[in-house]
Amino acid sequence: MDQPFAALSQRFASRFGEAPAFLVRAPGRVNLIGEHTDYNQGFVLPLALEHSVRIALRPRRDRRVRLYSENFQQWVEFSLEKLEKAQGWGEYVKGVAWALQEEGYTLQGWEGLLESQVPIGAGLSSSAALEVAVARAFAAVSSLPWDGKRMALLCQKAENEWVGVQCGIMDQMISALAERGHALFLDCRTLETQQVPFPSLARIVVMDSGTRRTLSHSAYNERRQQCEEAARLLQVPALRDLSPQELDQRAARVRLDQVLYRRARHVVTENERVTRTVQALQAGDVAAVGALLNESHRSLDQDFEVTNQALNELVAVAWEHPACYGARMVGAGFGGCAIALVKEEATEAFMEFVRQAYTQRSGYRTELYPSHPEQGVECYSGMMDDRRSR
Ligand code: ADP
Ligand code: MG
Repeated sequence: MDQPFAALSQRFASRFGEAPAFLVRAPGRVNLIGEHTDYNQGFVLPLALEHSVRIALRPRRDRRVRLYSENFQQWVEFSLEKLEKAQGWGEYVKGVAWALQEEGYTLQGWEGLLESQVPIGAGLSSSAALEVAVARAFAAVSSLPWDGKRMALLCQKAENEWVGVQCGIMDQMISALAERGHALFLDCRTLETQQVPFPSLARIVVMDSGTRRTLSHSAYNERRQQCEEAARLLQVPALRDLSPQELDQRAARVRLDQVLYRRARHVVTENERVTRTVQALQAGDVAAVGALLNESHRSLDQDFEVTNQALNELVAVAWEHPACYGARMVGAGFGGCAIALVKEEATEAFMEFVRQAYTQRSGYRTELYPSHPEQGVECYSGMMDDRRSR
């Protein structure tokens, strides 16, 4: 049992008077490459972070669920007999219960403590980690078979239809299916997945720019509409269906507007970069992976135009350090985080450099999250050294 679990178990024991029956952990995630490709039915390559949501729990005899979030210092409590919509973080828990029951599963009640190291609202998907952890908790107390892909889809349904957030499938999939030391290739059209080995001598450093997108929804929706419009004019079901060569030929034929062309070029070349990154990882060519991250950033900056000055400065600072193989902004853009792929043994020096140089140049402070690719959701039961199947 790792230290965070040991500490959580102790806090559980002092509150409930006995050891937890189950310990569940589900990770946050970052997307190595494949940005703004998901809604174009393309490819993504996320990896699970060491930063996780943890739940310690025990079953209840009735059909009530009671969960205390240590981060929010707040209880949520509801009955599985009568799920009613309300406000707040409890909706993620309730939404998962709702989606599982809609699927026909019979659920047992439970109670427990929740603790998370996934920063909330930073784009590392604390929400999907919470959903997947809750689904795993329900599966444990209700003795449901655990099928990661199916459960990920139900968690997405909970977020889409109960919470009302139109997220894609990437976050839940990686939190449920990740394998330690691997990134997960995901085809967002077919949901085909493939584990891709990650170099053991490299580390991912997530770098929070300290800026948040303000015009988030309008700019994001505009990009989505531009992609749909480009696909329609280019006469393909989705931009995913074009290679860079085909894009150029068709764009010339239909005289595609310059802005739409650049938006489409980002998506089409980004899909190709995901494929090339998978190949480079399989070949153990870290330098090639780094170069692809850099290309991705330039494309997001110049063609898709979703960076901001802070993200560009942060990435430029990372690029300057000799231990950095490559870096790029991640997520929807206009704020949020960037990632760097860094030589393992120089991670500390790299982080020190980035902290200082970034603040000096931008005036913002960066929060850094170094990580190796972590295992997806896990559940331990009973005496805790008995490891349950995932
Ligand atoms: P993110 O990018 O982190 O997924 P979201 O806005 O999608 O940001 O999800 C954040 C929400 O998830 C929080 O507002 C809260 O409702 C829920 N959440 C995440 N972590 C926790 C936690 N540790 N305790 C309670 N709720 C949490
Ligand atoms: Mg989220």
